[in-house]
Amino acid sequence: MKDMADTGLLIVFSGPSGAGKGTICEALRKNFPNVNYSISMTTRQPRVGEKDGVDYYFTSASEFETLLKKQAFLEYAKVYDHYYGTPKEHVYGLLAQGKHVLLEIDIQGAMQVRAQYPNCVCIYIVPPSLDILAKRLRERHTDTEEVICKRLHKTKEELQWISKYDYLIINNDLSQAIKEAIAIVQAEQCKVIRLQEKREKILNAY
Ligand code: 5GP
Repeated sequence: MKDMADTGLLIVFSGPSGAGKGTICEALRKNFPNVNYSISMTTRQPRVGEKDGVDYYFTSASEFETLLKKQAFLEYAKVYDHYYGTPKEHVYGLLAQGKHVLLEIDIQGAMQVRAQYPNCVCIYIVPPSLDILAKRLRERHTDTEEVICKRLHKTKEELQWISKYDYLIINNDLSQAIKEAIAIVQAEQCKVIRLQEKREKILNAY
């Protein structure tokens, strides 16, 4: 029988801005050369320093809605009055090549991914308290007080849904949070249920 290549892991990270998702994902990319990052499309304005095609694909609402009609997204959500979505084709292409794909998306999106791709690994990252999250957001100086209040409110709502995730990382200490994320990916890579190709190989070696 011809070996079947194992698909990569679809790893979904959610959590409020300021939780450290970006830094943790970057650390995963350094630790696992096989990890790729899915670049989302959004209709929000770029923040200072953000680049089109690197941080997001920035687009208009009408272009986004056209792509929605064409079912070009694995998932999408309207967050803080702006659309955010994960272009589908690119993600599926990488997974089929055995590469891992990281998505950094909100909970509405994570649940859509779960419905479409039940084998995904969903991780929620959160600072240890609302006060600490508020402090981190204010120290970034990237959002107005109104936006910060919206983010804090949304986080409180999202936390009700934590049980829908596979893993929770409480980011009190960044290096510990990174260790936990690495451990999760290592364990998921070893799950027998995912390893058709490796199972065949080991059976042939005995
Ligand atoms: P920000 O505007 O701070 O970059 O992101 C705001 C929120 O949108 C975050 O919770 C982030 O995880 C979420 N987000 C970013 N990209 C996507 C996406 O492609 N899909 C969904 N559903 N949420 C996203």
